[in-house]
Amino acid sequence: MSVYYEYLKQNEEHIKKDLLKLVRAESPSHRKEKVDACGEILKEIFQNRIQGDWKLETFSRKPTGNHFLFTLKETSSKPRILFLSHFDTVWEVGALPIVEKGNDIYGPGIFDMKAGLLSSIWALRSLQQEIEDLPFSPVYLFTADEEIGSTTSRSVIEEVAKTCDAVLVMEPPVAGSYALKTERKGVGRYTLGVTGVSSHAGNHHEDGVSAIRELAQQIIGLEELTDYANGTTVNVGVIKGGTSSNVVSASAVAEIDFRVTSNQEAEKLIGVLENLQPHNPSAEISISGELNRPPMEKSQGSTRLFEKAQLAGKRLGMDIEGAKAGGGSDGNFTAALGIPTLDGLGIPGDGPHATHEHIHFDRFSERCALVAELCLEIGND
Ligand SMILES: [Zn+2]
Repeated sequence: MSVYYEYLKQNEEHIKKDLLKLVRAESPSHRKEKVDACGEILKEIFQNRIQGDWKLETFSRKPTGNHFLFTLKETSSKPRILFLSHFDTVWEVGALPIVEKGNDIYGPGIFDMKAGLLSSIWALRSLQQEIEDLPFSPVYLFTADEEIGSTTSRSVIEEVAKTCDAVLVMEPPVAGSYALKTERKGVGRYTLGVTGVSSHAGNHHEDGVSAIRELAQQIIGLEELTDYANGTTVNVGVIKGGTSSNVVSASAVAEIDFRVTSNQEAEKLIGVLENLQPHNPSAEISISGELNRPPMEKSQGSTRLFEKAQLAGKRLGMDIEGAKAGGGSDGNFTAALGIPTLDGLGIPGDGPHATHEHIHFDRFSERCALVAELCLEIGND
């Protein structure tokens, strides 16, 4: 059995203390003051648990919380491993109670992804107990806006990742399983607006151009672009339009989310969206949006990284599986740059963004030891 696992197992009480501190510091993405306060607690935990001479850089942002980066001051030629985590959550303060039930702990953002984030800290701590001169150079980036699209952290993530040899994304594994995430879909977000001509629905119906009717026809076409066989989905999730039932509507809007497994498919869909034509030539349509996260496709580098995780797992008696995920993460950005990226290294549990969000705390030590062993595999390669 791994010495790191033994060390972590013996320290579960301390780990749980850190974890509850982090989860109690609720940090909904839209509440900057709350997210920043959680960031302070996170820094404290890091400095408390990790040895060495570290440089801390803070990336001050508005309206989101600040992001921060820990790197070792000493330069080295060892492989640089980036631990990538976010500490914002989707939960409004007080929306979800923190409850322990048997071996599970429920709480806001505990599965996605405060437990995983903490695991990256304790993994290094366990290594530092045993090894004086680690064979790799760790880099920690903690971001504050992943749940709202990473608009203020993306450039930092990309710049830091470019200096690293591997990226370990501490997001949770596939919900309800232990599988790592080796591929993720790309996510596009678009808004389709229609402008028609209003008129009295009784006296001058024929003079109107219904924006709602036009939008309805567009929606059918959009949703038909869904192709489960190749993993593409197009979802119109929000519609708005019209002013009153007795008025032919002059405007209507739809919000669109699409998911794709390849860049090729993303380009194809974007082409269709950006060239939409009105069914009724008297209506006007406008489309805006972007590919928010490129797909995380399998690469040679990420496949090798996954194989290292399997070797690391063997030393712990664990069978490590890989799976495709429909959701995007910040790993999509780093994978798109061609940097070997492995996602889903966080703590098993279930219910991301759902009221039953929880982790299996009794799995923390083995999962955390997996990260420690994986770092050695990468460093000793
Ligand atoms: Zn997450």
